[in-house]
Amino acid sequence: MKNISILGSTGSIGTQSLDVIKKNGYRAVALTAYNKVDELERQIREFKPKYAALVDETAAKELSSRVADTDTKIYSGLEGVCECACADEADTVINSVVGMAGLKPTLDAIEAGKKIALANKETLVAGGQLVMDNAKKKNVPILPVDSEHSAIFQCLQGCHDKKTLKKIILTASGGPFFGKTKDELKSVTVREALNHPNWSMGAKITIDSATMMNKGLELIEAVWLFGVKPENVDIVVHRESVVHSLIEYVDNSVIAQLGVPDMRIPIQYALTYPERYESPVSELSLADYGKLTFFKPDYDTFECINICRNAVMKGGLYPAAANSANEEANYQFRHGKISFLRIPELVRLGVEKAPDKADYTLEDVLETDREVRAYIKSLI
Ligand code: MG
Repeated sequence: MKNISILGSTGSIGTQSLDVIKKNGYRAVALTAYNKVDELERQIREFKPKYAALVDETAAKELSSRVADTDTKIYSGLEGVCECACADEADTVINSVVGMAGLKPTLDAIEAGKKIALANKETLVAGGQLVMDNAKKKNVPILPVDSEHSAIFQCLQGCHDKKTLKKIILTASGGPFFGKTKDELKSVTVREALNHPNWSMGAKITIDSATMMNKGLELIEAVWLFGVKPENVDIVVHRESVVHSLIEYVDNSVIAQLGVPDMRIPIQYALTYPERYESPVSELSLADYGKLTFFKPDYDTFECINICRNAVMKGGLYPAAANSANEEANYQFRHGKISFLRIPELVRLGVEKAPDKADYTLEDVLETDREVRAYIKSLI
């Protein structure tokens, strides 16, 4: 029996997490979302959590009155999410919040000694040092839910000596604009950018896949999760999203994790680790695929990857600045305010705004976030 809090329960990872929880007979102790009253009400009636929270205060009031007949206590605001992250009854927190808003709840959950199943990559990008230091201090495991990082984590189960690990190889689908030139990307629309070939995900991450910022963020995430140097993380474009990532040993032997693209495998593994159970995901038939293809990333067209690599090499608050600039640029693109190619330009400018500071606190990260976002907005 596991008792789980899900932060971001109405999103794509959140709903699939509830699916996994239901199939394994686990208990959802707390559920949180941003402002989706209808969805969260439905989840409260089905899963009967002890606590729930909506970030949006008005939506939280509405939810409170709608579920007054249940035993679920409703919280509001970011403090409400943090309250749910620390719920006494929970042993594990799945963090699938979108964006660096997930950082504070992650740090609070670590402080409360909860096991973290992390789907919120921005947490590690913005505050990697803080998160990993605190997790170590509290002896709390951070289990990856991102498909690539779950793949690496699974491959590493056979690694008995960290010194023998030479490289991590992240696979990237390449997104909807694979093979396109910069010229062809000048006038792409939001709708075209939202048309991902393999994964059905939320809007923010789908745009991040189209710009390949997602792979840059995942590179930074890998550096923190697995303690590798940025120069030892390779990226290979793999259109079919069947090989979820690979590791290479010093003898050049390569281990990969494969499966059909379905997030319920990484979600379930993060919850059942080190055990494995049956899952509702279909079997992989390689013969049906026939062939798997691999390509070098086009770093000139998809500049975000190297901007992120450089940011994490510089360390400190540079990755946080890259993330904040991207969150703002991604939002502005989705709302029709800027062109697609303006996104990498703004991310680059955002990184230049980062204060040069090797050691940082949560307040430094939040301050950098506010400054970079304001700067990006002033450029639009
Ligand atoms: Mg991923």
